[in-house]
Amino acid sequence: MHFALDAGHGQSSKTAGVYDPGAMLQGHEEHKLAVGIVDDLEAALVALGHRVYRPTGLFTTRDDKAKAAGVDFYLSIHFNGGPGTGSEAFVNRTSATPQAKAFAADVSARLAKIMGIPDRGLKYADWAVLSANKNDALVEVCFPADVKKYLANKDAVTLAILNALLKANGLPEVASLEGGTDMYWLIIAIFGSEADASGFAKWCAANGIASQTSGAACIAHGNDEKSRAAEAEAERRSGVCPWGRVYTTQDSYKHFSRRAPYVVPEAVVTSDEGRVTELENALEEIDKHAHRIIDIVDGEVS
Ligand SMILES: [Zn+2]
Repeated sequence: MHFALDAGHGQSSKTAGVYDPGAMLQGHEEHKLAVGIVDDLEAALVALGHRVYRPTGLFTTRDDKAKAAGVDFYLSIHFNGGPGTGSEAFVNRTSATPQAKAFAADVSARLAKIMGIPDRGLKYADWAVLSANKNDALVEVCFPADVKKYLANKDAVTLAILNALLKANGLPEVASLEGGTDMYWLIIAIFGSEADASGFAKWCAANGIASQTSGAACIAHGNDEKSRAAEAEAERRSGVCPWGRVYTTQDSYKHFSRRAPYVVPEAVVTSDEGRVTELENALEEIDKHAHRIIDIVDGEVS
């Protein structure tokens, strides 16, 4: 999946280029605390095979940038200022999805439990930063009065946010921030139809496996009209060129010329133990749908 992670503040919401630390929490800047969490979340999500986009710039434009990047979920990390105690999470008052609301309620409860502070729960707001995406949520980890409890539980708090995010997106939770290994496997297959391809993609989603399907990807390195149109469609859908990691231009042309539609499921598993079983299951499933398996790549994420 594709996640947007915003470390709150860092730049003035009014004037470009002016630094804004956000709230001060007993000598700790809100923005720097948020960056610490977002850095760890990004590393964990990438290790799990997901894509992460980090919008920057004027605060109010960040969720619009995330929307333009085509993310599935936009998460902004903040800490509260002023008096008070507890964790809370905000969603848009009018446009929030059930998924975003469930995430907000869940993450607030998890954080409160870990830090031993009140669960202020799901809150609603009209902020511009929570308006653009299908799923937008903003977490206020804690107040200045709670910051020592946060610092004592930093990794557990980050893991709780990660797991709430995974759960809200129908993905399996992980046991630690380093829970994913850097091993992966990648199946490249051609499907007979887009219906078959989306059938396999749905199976991947239900099993917590990252997949990517596209009409024809780099087939446009070939030299016919149909290929070029297919590549444009693939790029429109996926935003990336999935062949890039495995095939050279020549290879992709040789393998995929004059076969359409082409689909690339990219599957990433997260633990060595689960790895073999997941690969076996995926191969069994792909057999039901795929026209031909082109390659199975097994290796380490660089
Ligand atoms: Zn803030």
